Amino acid sequence: MESDVHPLDRNIEHPFQCTSLQQIDPSAVMSDGDILSLAPSEGKHPVNALQNEALCFPSIFPQGKNSYFTKNESGDFIQERDRKISVTKYFDSRVLSIDNRFQGDPEWIFYAQYLKEVEQVRNAATIALKKGPGITTQGLKITAGDLMDKEKLNISVIRNNLGYRYLSDTPGTPPYWEKTMNGLFAGFKQIGPPSFFISFSAADRRWPEIAQAMLAQQGKDPSSWDTLTWSEYCELVNRNPVTAVLMFERRVGQFVKIMTSECQPLGGQVKDMFLRREMQERGWPHIHAMVWVEGAPLPEANDAEHINFAEQAISCSLPDENDDPQLYDIVTSVQRHSKKHSRTCFKNKTSDCRFDYPKPIASYSYAIRPSEPPTGTTMTEWKEWATEIVTKVKSFLTHTEDLHLYTVQDVLSACNTNEEEYKIALGALCRREQIVLKRNPIEAWINFYNKHLLRFWNGNMDIQYIYNPYACAKYCLSYIAKAEKEMGG
Ligand SMILES: [Zn+2]
Repeated sequence: MESDVHPLDRNIEHPFQCTSLQQIDPSAVMSDGDILSLAPSEGKHPVNALQNEALCFPSIFPQGKNSYFTKNESGDFIQERDRKISVTKYFDSRVLSIDNRFQGDPEWIFYAQYLKEVEQVRNAATIALKKGPGITTQGLKITAGDLMDKEKLNISVIRNNLGYRYLSDTPGTPPYWEKTMNGLFAGFKQIGPPSFFISFSAADRRWPEIAQAMLAQQGKDPSSWDTLTWSEYCELVNRNPVTAVLMFERRVGQFVKIMTSECQPLGGQVKDMFLRREMQERGWPHIHAMVWVEGAPLPEANDAEHINFAEQAISCSLPDENDDPQLYDIVTSVQRHSKKHSRTCFKNKTSDCRFDYPKPIASYSYAIRPSEPPTGTTMTEWKEWATEIVTKVKSFLTHTEDLHLYTVQDVLSACNTNEEEYKIALGALCRREQIVLKRNPIEAWINFYNKHLLRFWNGNMDIQYIYNPYACAKYCLSYIAKAEKEMGG
């Protein structure tokens, strides 16, 4: 309000390369003939970041007013507003304000997030100290003396995780994930294993409303979104991270509504679901979902029942370009794995794509299970035999153009094998029982999708039928490991 100039535009040549830690151009300071002070804070007292919000962000508060605290005449920090609000409420209202100087400044957003988390942890700790049970897991009373004594503190509180339990409501902490996973396992017991794992990623360039909303916010013509160059687009999104996340969340909300609606895109009413958001390296969120669907076969059901249920919800087909141009466009644009693969394909340093492309082809759906080698053959020989067949097929699917001219049988006979033998080879190499769904050679590079959900989402998705409940438990445990690894640095 006080200034028309965007904070990031001030004296900065490359606005998105700046950080709060570096002087943009140290030589500029030197050339002025000024004295360069190496430790300007030496001998001074550190100040509270919240009390000095206006000083920390002069470009947002050019008049030093209207921050959370105001310094009064006697030097005290007070809230100069009729009704006092919490730090969290204050930051939320700032970040969602129509005045977008707050949401347009990534440094301020990180500052706000940090202070909000500190506040949350401090509140949780205060409550834990006031209302906590005050006893160890062995039932011994914890005294103030115990807490003062480093040795005792270690034995009675830290070692049995009692000291961190109060963090269970703070997202991202190991106790938070522990609590979440306990809830999930309770869900497995109560309603059985989930039916599908679904993940979906942002395809923001295919969602014009995001750039349109940002342009409208800046008073520009929303219809000019498709004339933006790549770097103009990136700059637009970088300057509006809050709008980007809000638009993404709105889409996720609608997606969930459709998935759980009576239209039943997954072939049955959704009974329950669990969602987890992750941030991808490029900055957009990524969603993982576990979905429980009514009418899904129980784990002990026969293969045919599982296959029927999986087939009606999952597809990898390449739609006809003339019959369904919309779905054809989405599938070919976002569901096709590149024959060149990507950087993340070889993360585990094995020679194979870790997403297993090209995928196994099959003229009909069937289940495979880890199998023992025939008598007289060692396990190593058995695996070598199977690897040779599977590798040959993969190589054919990678190096052959015009795969649409080939049937499954054509490809397998060109590789000197047949479907029965190929199926046995896949079984010899699988680590746990799984379903191989029908897939033509032309579809070997297409990721599984649900056609109703994909049509709505209009971005990359993956869907897996949960055939093996143990795989599901393993998936959950890997979440816990992930949370701990991230916390451990
Ligand atoms: Zn790959």
